[in-house]
Amino acid sequence: MQKIKTYGSRDIPEDLRPLSCELDSLRDLLLQLARERTDGPKDGLIAVTRMLSGVTVEQWNDVAKLYGLQEWLALSLDESACLNLNNLLNALEDLAHQSEHDPLTGLENRRAFNRKMQMEAERVERSNSTVSLVIIDIDNFKNVNDTYGHPCGDEVLCGLADVLIEAKRVYDVAARLGGEEFALLLPGASALKTKSMVERVLQQFSEQKFGCENHEPFSCTFSAGVACMNGRGSTSITQLMELADKALYEAKTSGKNCVHVARQKPDFEYDRSTMVHSNEKQFLFSGTD
Ligand code: GH3
Ligand code: MG
Ligand code: MG
Repeated sequence: MQKIKTYGSRDIPEDLRPLSCELDSLRDLLLQLARERTDGPKDGLIAVTRMLSGVTVEQWNDVAKLYGLQEWLALSLDESACLNLNNLLNALEDLAHQSEHDPLTGLENRRAFNRKMQMEAERVERSNSTVSLVIIDIDNFKNVNDTYGHPCGDEVLCGLADVLIEAKRVYDVAARLGGEEFALLLPGASALKTKSMVERVLQQFSEQKFGCENHEPFSCTFSAGVACMNGRGSTSITQLMELADKALYEAKTSGKNCVHVARQKPDFEYDRSTMVHSNEKQFLFSGTD
């Protein structure tokens, strides 16, 4: 590797001077994006690839250090290209997994859940079928952290994730939406079926004992709200989320440790023109009007 020369306030290898201008403007762009993102959406994640001919991985590593770009992945595409492309593929697969999973519980995250909910809503619309949404929130979780400590709180979160994974069918989706809030998406399940499934999950979860140093084993409960998308054109995703959230709120306000189902319109409207009017009923049954 050739000697590093001083360039501006940084030391840059001679061959890489043109690259340093590009990196300067790139860094300005990233700083500007970071500033703009303070009040914008926070869930973007991209991988950017730039081929650099005439540069070795070692040279890049030195430059990356100077520019604070160590997290950038540099792979040599020389005679070991095949091996490196495999590494690249693995790294991209890891990134794709990380971008849709919660690192603590291994469940899918909110981004993946939203994507799957969109797909399910389209399926319901296409095939005039059903999907149920459950939003679950652990009760008094702040107390768990305050009493037993944050690591113990994390164990409780993983404990609930395990119960959800155990209870769900292969085509159901279980996700951690954030904090101590989880969600289930159950294709083909009616609201009532879903309620009894979630009640079984609640029973199992509340029977789990969590241990931590210097404390007696303890258990936790959760509250859940259920809403159902039932047939073509019934409910939008936003309405479904609002209904499940409202049912969860009712579960919390009615004392926690329970599952509430959202009150929704019936699955179908009666054709009122075919219904017997009350004065017709009177005529039919009493012979008077
Ligand atoms: P409620 O029964 O009304 O839901 O009350 P709560 O105490 O469960 O709800 P609150 O929103 O007051 O507290 C949620 C707590 O969850 C606060 C936050 O510190 C904790 N929390 C969020 N994410 C994590 C995490 O990843 N690990 C741990 N241990 N705690 C977390
Ligand atoms: Mg909460
Ligand atoms: Mg809570």
